[in-house]
Amino acid sequence: MHYHISAEDPLSHFIDIVWSIDQVAEPEIEIQLPAWRPGRYEIQNFAKNIQKIEALAEDGSKLFIGKVSKDRWRILPEGHSKVIVRYRYFAQVQNAGTSYVDDTLWYLNFINFAMYVEGRINEPYQVSLALPQGYRIATGLKREGNTLLAPDFYALVDSPLLASSTLQKVEYKVGAVDFYVWMHGALKPNWERILYDFRRFTAEQIATMGSFPEREYHFLNLILPTPYYHGVEHRNSTMVVLGPDAEGDELHTDLLGVSAHELFHAWNVIRIRPLELLPYDFTRENYFNTCFVAEGCTTYYGDLFLKRSGVFGLDEYIKELEVYMKRHFEGSNQASQSLLESSYDLWLDGYERGIPGRKVSVYHKGALVALILDLFLRKKSNHSQSLDDVMRLMWTRFGEPFKGYTLQDYQQVVEEVAGEKLDWYWDSCVAGSAPLAPILNDALAFVGLQMNISEGGQVAVVVRHGGQFQPDREAWLASCQK
Ligand SMILES: [Zn+2]
Repeated sequence: MHYHISAEDPLSHFIDIVWSIDQVAEPEIEIQLPAWRPGRYEIQNFAKNIQKIEALAEDGSKLFIGKVSKDRWRILPEGHSKVIVRYRYFAQVQNAGTSYVDDTLWYLNFINFAMYVEGRINEPYQVSLALPQGYRIATGLKREGNTLLAPDFYALVDSPLLASSTLQKVEYKVGAVDFYVWMHGALKPNWERILYDFRRFTAEQIATMGSFPEREYHFLNLILPTPYYHGVEHRNSTMVVLGPDAEGDELHTDLLGVSAHELFHAWNVIRIRPLELLPYDFTRENYFNTCFVAEGCTTYYGDLFLKRSGVFGLDEYIKELEVYMKRHFEGSNQASQSLLESSYDLWLDGYERGIPGRKVSVYHKGALVALILDLFLRKKSNHSQSLDDVMRLMWTRFGEPFKGYTLQDYQQVVEEVAGEKLDWYWDSCVAGSAPLAPILNDALAFVGLQMNISEGGQVAVVVRHGGQFQPDREAWLASCQK
């Protein structure tokens, strides 16, 4: 499979794609464009951005191409062993899951516009980029000059790319793994500070999980002049869009928060993958009910790793906890759905506000129930066991062998670490919609914290010293800083 990508008129935001399909033997083939992208579990219909498409034989003669679904086409090769598909894709949106081209930047997410031939999704891809002179390329894919090499379609569409003459980069090493931080935008990054902080949270994550899934990892950052906060996890990279590009601490704090979260996804969801998502079916919804593990635990750990590695102080960390609490208790405290139901329904309206009193956030409620479980395990074992043990077991049992887990698998691992059945936890926190505040406060009391909800519905976390809560703060703090 070979792709040639150019942008004849970059200011029009169209990219011009020529896809050569070799070794065609069938009387008809079907080609598929993904209907969604991993990391965002909703149908996105990228096909609406294709302006025109045609199929040709090697001699230039036109071949029949016609749609069989909104994003699938049938081609009649008429005996030709090579088929060329030519199309134009409108790349004009800048978020962490889109593509964008202009006269200074190529930002490509192949999931938006690359296709596979039905039955041949595991074949290697070669992509040549007709880039302007002097452009640097940032991507997790292997490459030779301006040619990218992907072992299969899954790898290609899990590897976004930035290319520009003004890309900036630093690198660091943790153990045997090379990490690259790339920036595109009108800013002068404080690289020293970035390196110092990134090294610490990266080392902490790897130390906790025991090993890293990849040999190299790329943080790809697109910094906009306008306010923005969005990150998407990938196999050996993450795509992050942040803004505004003004000098100051805010951008740095956002960068740390999103980067620590996305890096943990390299284990949790990229490799520790819900069974229903392995392999991805790009043609339709891939329903699964464990997004509270994929996103909830990742949200919880993103900030916890910043705290443990010393990048965040206790106050900054508690402020982040307060954010999940505010989002949940001020937004969906009365929701009728459980985490399992809202995970399943991501495909329905997971990324919209939704009607009142219906769904919960797999991110925020998911992070809170991860916190509840972590504190429960710590209390029960006097800090000798924690959610870390759960995540490590998930990694060695399901992530490293890359075999997919079910809700039952997760429950079993949790109960194995706990050494007891946890029906109360599954019933009230995960599968039910019982009020979370009493359970959360019961868990928080162990470490001397309490969540208060004012009469006006405002959420605040207060630190309790002594008193009725018998806080175990010192042990908790020590375990958070090991
Ligand atoms: Zn995430």
